[in-house]
Amino acid sequence: MTKIIALTNQKGGVGKTTTAVNLAASLAALDRRVLLIDLDPQGHATMGSGIDKHDLEGSVLDVLLGELRASDVILDCPDAGYALLPGNGDLTAAEVDLLGVEGRERRLTEALAPIAAEYDVVLIDCPPSLNMLTVNALTAAHGVLIPLQCEFYALEGLSALLDTVEQIQGNVNPALDVFGIVRTMYDARNSLTRDVSKQLSDYFGDTLIKATIPRNVRVAEAPSHGLPVTKYARLSRGSQAYRVLAKELIRRLSL
Ligand code: ADP
Ligand code: MG
Repeated sequence: MTKIIALTNQKGGVGKTTTAVNLAASLAALDRRVLLIDLDPQGHATMGSGIDKHDLEGSVLDVLLGELRASDVILDCPDAGYALLPGNGDLTAAEVDLLGVEGRERRLTEALAPIAAEYDVVLIDCPPSLNMLTVNALTAAHGVLIPLQCEFYALEGLSALLDTVEQIQGNVNPALDVFGIVRTMYDARNSLTRDVSKQLSDYFGDTLIKATIPRNVRVAEAPSHGLPVTKYARLSRGSQAYRVLAKELIRRLSL
């Protein structure tokens, strides 16, 4: 069965988009059929997949507003190996555009219903806020994957996020699960990283994903080439770490 996974953390710069793109590519390289949805107005997942966000015929916003079908907007990213439902700055208006729409938190759920079965995994790259776009992602998802940087304030943001997950469970999506917390830009030599890691492990147990993603310059360079790091620098530490993460998720979630 298709697993729909929202990559979310209301904090910006923690590695949501990087993880969405590289996990999508790594799962595709392991023969999973993957759809990546770019729900962030920044359009970085779109650009990172080699698609020009300024030159879209249609975007996920058109789909949310019911003006186009998902199947009409989804693009093939042959270099990256997955399908993309692209997004761009037009999404900035989504909050207002969706205001008068009935059942506005369920728009993505409904748009995905006819096509989800064509994929093994659907990954949703969320914006860095808990807005109506994120609510749509959490309503459509089976579970969330939380990219997190092991720094002092990381845990503070996490509790706000988990409160939101609980609210969504209570209102629109009772089955929403927390699939895991992924440590990004991880540096095991840093004592603060180790302290935060230990707290995460004590508090979250198995929910803390074992695979960690190291800080790696190839990971940061890849988007400027419109490629996932797994294609841009296949043998880099970053590329290998995302492959290990993909394998762990395949096992844990039976993808
Ligand atoms: P978010 O989507 O949560 O805002 P991004 O994925 O855009 O975060 O990452 C923020 C910045 O950190 C980007 O410039 C990205 O290239 C960089 N980055 C993310 N992960 C890594 C990594 N493992 N190694 C080096 N740089 C990284
Ligand atoms: Mg992002």
